[in-house]
Amino acid sequence: MKKVIIANWKSNPNRLSSAVELARKSDFKGAIIAPPHVYLEAVGGTLKRASLASQDLFWKDGGPYTGEISASQVKNLKVKYVIIGHSERRGYLNETDEMINGKVKMALSAGIKVILCVGENKEIRNKGVSAAKKFIKTQLNKDLKGIPRRVANGIMVAYEPIWAIGTGKSDTPDKAEEVTSYIKSVLAKEHRVKRPVVLYGGSVNEKNVSSFLKKMDIDGALVGGASLKPKSFKKIIEAR
Ligand code: PEP
Repeated sequence: MKKVIIANWKSNPNRLSSAVELARKSDFKGAIIAPPHVYLEAVGGTLKRASLASQDLFWKDGGPYTGEISASQVKNLKVKYVIIGHSERRGYLNETDEMINGKVKMALSAGIKVILCVGENKEIRNKGVSAAKKFIKTQLNKDLKGIPRRVANGIMVAYEPIWAIGTGKSDTPDKAEEVTSYIKSVLAKEHRVKRPVVLYGGSVNEKNVSSFLKKMDIDGALVGGASLKPKSFKKIIEAR
């Protein structure tokens, strides 16, 4: 299987014209592009090869939920994937595992594939990789609670240690793989996922991407900052 590369643009860029330009330069086969919601339609109209992802959606589908984006709305904009549980949403917006569980269920029932983000903070990681694994297992079990086996296969997991996101200090490929392979075992044993797909995210760039992608149990990368730089993103795609 070719490795998966996801571009998370977060709350960038500031203008529609820049988003369209960035989409044109990021339009590679096998890439998954997650622009801000306001640009989904324009970016979706620009992409010919890459797939479109939403950065979030709400756990209810339409109705009196001011400011929220529904699964049907993004589905109608050709969105195939949705990022759920990003640590920036868990942190800044106090998203709980229960909310994330509702979002995962909503996305899957709408036929949108889920990219579920999990990962520990620095305090936990300072206690060791075993403590990180324990924390992540709890996150996974809460986030995936009650998901029927037949749809659990539509879920990809991104292991994103919080301390590595946007800091320029990525995890080591060996430790990242130790955790991704552990996540695969939890998905297979406890959630009956047949072929678990688990990515790494956290300060991946064009220089370090190969060291992660050559690991057998790292199925791809979720890329934030470097996905905003077309030359870097092209090199990341070429490393697949
Ligand atoms: C992210 O957006 O999930 C991310 C990993 O960001 P960065 O690559 O900038 O660390």
